[in-house]
Amino acid sequence: MTVSCPVKRMVEESLTDGGYRGSTMPTCRLCGSTYPREFFIHGNGPNAQVCVRCGVDHGLVTKEEVPVLFEKSAASARFSAVARRYSVFLYLPFLWILWGSTLSGVEPWGLFFLILLILLTLIAPVLFIYRGGQYSGDMARLTPSYDRPKGH
Ligand SMILES: [Zn+2]
Repeated sequence: MTVSCPVKRMVEESLTDGGYRGSTMPTCRLCGSTYPREFFIHGNGPNAQVCVRCGVDHGLVTKEEVPVLFEKSAASARFSAVARRYSVFLYLPFLWILWGSTLSGVEPWGLFFLILLILLTLIAPVLFIYRGGQYSGDMARLTPSYDRPKGH
């Protein structure tokens, strides 16, 4: 359950980007996973210290009550934001392979594209870091508003 949990995946995305880094996160008493406080359901007694995923699984809350978990449009928008951010590291190796297999022997285009590829490879990490702030902003905007449970 902990492996396939979409909440855990979203949390890990936020973690790698510093969104929640440094804050201590509570542990769900049903599945034992650690999430940011926004991913916990509201209430006392049986609802205390339960993550949104387990809350739905155990019938403690309805899907409508936890938009953070089930907002389809937000989920796809978040996915495309992540894809936009990391796609460069997918197509750069692809371009290098393409160059090595077809263009490297062609004069003068082989050399021209080699220089272009080197420039692109050098610029990619710079742009990646430079756009990090914008990405964090996008992710924050795409996180449904869901109040933190009281006491968290
Ligand atoms: Zn849980």
